[in-house]
Amino acid sequence: MVSASPSSSVRVRFCPSPTGNPHVGLVRTALFNWAFARHHQGTLVFRIEDTDAARDSEESYEQLLGAMRWLGFDWDEGPEVGGPHEPYRQSQRMDIYRDVAQRLKDAGHAYDCYCTTEELDARRESARAAGKPSGYDGKCRDLTAEQVATYRAEGRTPIVRFRMPDETITFTDLVRGELTFTAENVPDYGIVRANGAPLYTLVNPVDDALMEITHVLRGEDLLSSTPRQIALYKALTELGIAKTTPEFGHLPYVMGEGNKKLSKRDPQASLNLYRERGFLPEGLLNYLSLLGWSFSADQDVFSIDEMVAKFEIEDVNANPARFDLKKAEAINADHIRQLDPAAFAAACAPWLEAPHANWAPEDFDQAAWEAIAPYAQTRVTVLSDITANVDFLFRQTPVEDEASWNKAMKEGSDALLRTARAKLADADWSSADALKEAVLAAGEEHGLKLGKAQAPVRVAVTGRTVGLPLFESLQILGRARTLPRIDAALAKLTA
Ligand code: GLU
Ligand code: ZN
Repeated sequence: MVSASPSSSVRVRFCPSPTGNPHVGLVRTALFNWAFARHHQGTLVFRIEDTDAARDSEESYEQLLGAMRWLGFDWDEGPEVGGPHEPYRQSQRMDIYRDVAQRLKDAGHAYDCYCTTEELDARRESARAAGKPSGYDGKCRDLTAEQVATYRAEGRTPIVRFRMPDETITFTDLVRGELTFTAENVPDYGIVRANGAPLYTLVNPVDDALMEITHVLRGEDLLSSTPRQIALYKALTELGIAKTTPEFGHLPYVMGEGNKKLSKRDPQASLNLYRERGFLPEGLLNYLSLLGWSFSADQDVFSIDEMVAKFEIEDVNANPARFDLKKAEAINADHIRQLDPAAFAAACAPWLEAPHANWAPEDFDQAAWEAIAPYAQTRVTVLSDITANVDFLFRQTPVEDEASWNKAMKEGSDALLRTARAKLADADWSSADALKEAVLAAGEEHGLKLGKAQAPVRVAVTGRTVGLPLFESLQILGRARTLPRIDAALAKLTA
């Protein structure tokens, strides 16, 4: 993925909170922002929203950066690359937020609210009971100096609340079209905690304003914050802090099992799962791009460059997208098939080494690997499948898999194996077809079709009931290593 130097005024941002393992929803958001920026030759800002000291950690931050790099994303401003709006970690921008909060208060756009949680809860309850909107009721909007003095004397510490204008807010969402929020549904909201810590509600739009973001593309879960942010933008514009209000596009929910929203805590949602299973970044991104977008009516597999060329935010579908692991795997498998052999071998390298490999490093045989790799490339779904498919080549003895053994070794398997061994011993090992003929002939002698005849041979030699094409596998393993394995299986069967 090559980053073109920005040549348009489009500025988008990817601004996750580093609160644990990155999940697929977050990756999809990053992907759509990245693709949008690249499609428009704009600028992608990567900002770290680490204002919640209780939940954010340095470890999560490192994980996030590692994930972005693994996925192949690049960014034009942000951690490690810098930029004109440094710093890009919100934890290092606290002075800015304090200053903006003060200016909002001075201009009357925000005020101190002394209500306690208990008071707020009680009032919310009675509003609900009376069938009225249950959001903040504006009690502290216009406190007198006397009331403030009383509250202070009681030892209360205020939060800062943004004063929502009493007007309907309408905007055109890039995905959902025109949306309208009436004032009673968007009450005044907190922007600074009682302990002085600024909240997401403040820091996110303030940074979007200062960083001159033109398009906010993010998950549907944040839709309810948009009218508040638009109002805040208006205030920031009035104060000369914001230049424009960005356009907004809300990406559809991703539904997991049982048609429930895929949650961060879902194991299926964890990016690490896909890395550990050996998804290719381009396979995973191809799949994730289909969560709310489509390339064309009849093509689901494409490269990231093809996606960038076609990606328009207006084409994103507002309906919830369904996460389908099987489809993700199928798409990944297609990307594996498309790699050139050298790239495939390179991608497999981690799975041929500890901790994945279950053979001794000194038993690894490069020539055998190069011979078997093409068969693996056309069959594995994820790279982690490699290990079990090729381990028979690199172990002194095949893995002992009891389930496979019990499945393949039936009454009469010993007789079959004895015949097969004799025929294989005499076969021409320069031809996989000759090995097949040998096993076929052995099967015929025992009234077995090829499939039934080859199962015990496969388990004797590879330890497993499924694997790469058997006769090519035998050939690569070689006569000298194959026959003793059949002998060992026969010894075990007759013991
Ligand atoms: N840090 C916010 C999140 O992780 C970003 C939300 C936004 O894009 O406005 O959800
Ligand atoms: Zn209040």
